[in-house]
Amino acid sequence: MTDEHTLSFILNQLGEDRDSYRGAVTPPIFETSNFAFATVAAMRAAGQDELANAFYTRGNNPTVEILRRKLAALEGTEDALVFGSGAGAIAAGVLAAVRAGDHVLCVQKPYAWTRVLVRDWLPRFGVSVSFVDGGDLAAIEAALTERTRMIVLESPNSLTMELQDLAAIAALARTRGVRTLCDNSYASPLLQRPADLGIDLVMHSATKYLNGHSDVVAGVLCGSRALIQEVFRGPFMTFGAIPGPFEAWLMLRGLRTLGVRMERVVRTTARIVEFLERHPKIARVYYPGSSGDPQRDLARTQMRSGSGMLSIEVRAEDVAGIERFCDSLKLFLMAVSWGGHESLVWPLAVVIRDGRAESNRTGLPWNLVRLSIGLEQPEELIADLEQALVQV
Ligand SMILES: *Cc1c(COP(=O)(O)O)cnc(C)c1O
Repeated sequence: MTDEHTLSFILNQLGEDRDSYRGAVTPPIFETSNFAFATVAAMRAAGQDELANAFYTRGNNPTVEILRRKLAALEGTEDALVFGSGAGAIAAGVLAAVRAGDHVLCVQKPYAWTRVLVRDWLPRFGVSVSFVDGGDLAAIEAALTERTRMIVLESPNSLTMELQDLAAIAALARTRGVRTLCDNSYASPLLQRPADLGIDLVMHSATKYLNGHSDVVAGVLCGSRALIQEVFRGPFMTFGAIPGPFEAWLMLRGLRTLGVRMERVVRTTARIVEFLERHPKIARVYYPGSSGDPQRDLARTQMRSGSGMLSIEVRAEDVAGIERFCDSLKLFLMAVSWGGHESLVWPLAVVIRDGRAESNRTGLPWNLVRLSIGLEQPEELIADLEQALVQV
């Protein structure tokens, strides 16, 4: 583990070298693909460690490097890599661990493109896959084989907010020599730090909370120096799913407010969850640690709190009722993605099933609606939900 810094130091100063930027408070965007050397010896030295040196921007870039240091410190790991998307990060993390003949274990209901990677792409290269209920430690243990190389976790998971006991799974994986990867996007490093619980690779869609402004698509992997080196020399450099220096700079700007954004979002969401749990038109609220959460104890053990992500089952008679609710919301924008400044609503089951009132392929209730809580005034968001629920 790295030295622990205060959150304020990480977000405002770590990795930044203001003397070399002539005192500029904001670091420069090193918008360059290439770096030049005065001597053959200097070029040779830099090229021997492309992760540590500015040599070519597919490998390293000074603006991206500032971001890597901050992200590693946020997750409490030795190093981090930044990718052009969360999907790029998870693909690199998984592919670095496996070869033909190996086996991967994955939680039952991961993010849709994680499922596609694991279910459809790994078998093309001779890697077998099992999906398990991540809440069932015995099922995970039973599904491990001699050839299992990786366990892919996502806690809380997409849409239904199911948790996995990260410390217990990490401990089990260690005894079997299996690498663990956890998608920590839904929690953010401020609410949950999987590496502290023994997880090997912590992944983020930085598109979401880390950037927080809905203007960048990016991904992150955090881990030990040795693991990050392995991913860097393999999939990172080979597949080249990198962010541009400008996107990295936007992310540095987004991170400045991570502390205040998460504090605000958590407080607002607690009020909204309380409002929804008491509302007669709401059949169920999915939110880690809430009074109705069956995994409440685990949530309280491994997370500081839930984030701004929740799902609700709306007590509608039919799909039209769900549609009226969503169409009536004024402050909540209707969109996918999440974790930005703006509150969002996504009637996923209805959209995916093209309006048919039945469980979709992933086994989700037809009346499930996902909300992402943003930075608006809490009472204005509650008033918006209240008037829209009248329309159900
Ligand atoms: C959005 C998302 C991803 C994918 O990230 P992109 O930045 O869109 O590639 C992965 N995991 C979760 C949980 C997500 O919500």
